[in-house]
Amino acid sequence: MKRAIPAEARVRVGARDVKLIVKVNARARRIGLRIDDSLGRPVLVLPSRRSVAEGLRFAESRAQWLQHSLSRLPPHVAFVDGARVPYLGLPHLVRHRPRARAPVLRHDGEIKVAGQPQHLGRRLTEWFRAEAKRVIGARARRMAERINKTVTRIAIRDGRTRWGSCSPNGSLSFSWRLMLAPPFVLDYVIAHEVAHLVEMNHGPRFWRLVERLCPQQEAAQHWLREHGSGLHRYG
Ligand SMILES: [Zn+2]
Repeated sequence: MKRAIPAEARVRVGARDVKLIVKVNARARRIGLRIDDSLGRPVLVLPSRRSVAEGLRFAESRAQWLQHSLSRLPPHVAFVDGARVPYLGLPHLVRHRPRARAPVLRHDGEIKVAGQPQHLGRRLTEWFRAEAKRVIGARARRMAERINKTVTRIAIRDGRTRWGSCSPNGSLSFSWRLMLAPPFVLDYVIAHEVAHLVEMNHGPRFWRLVERLCPQQEAAQHWLREHGSGLHRYG
């Protein structure tokens, strides 16, 4: 029978309780503790023979390290009234407008969200996904036309590990979080996936094609290395 392991636990760090994600890894030799940058949370890894209590004692013994590591992370930004959230790299203020007619409206540096406050987060996320489908879809089709290719389908996801992907049948998928990034970053990821419609590899011909579709590819790669994981702290 499998051990019941809670997915989360709390540990005392300084004056506050910190939530940990608990994972069991049968191959782990010892208890491990690391920070997941994109989640902004510590992850406790337990070998299958160690108990949660042992893991938590270990985490407590590393309280100073935890405190230091957590203090260096950019804070999580929940989708709530008053949150500051970028749209295509430009700062926007999220406003809850319960009686607004449109479910979500972006105007003049504000994103107004209608409806019940408890649904604001879900509404805004859905809106970002719809915007991603619209904006990324139009840009991807335009880029594909330039190299005489057709995009058969655009899927929007919330992948943890990749910003985009391309399947051999011409369907492309992208993370909605790219809508938070500046346009040149978005264009680079689109150019990258569109170029895969011709070259299903990362060889020199592929990179020349990306360069043709998006001359700012180097700056965009740099931006993603520096700020990419930060896009996961929203919502
Ligand atoms: Zn690629």
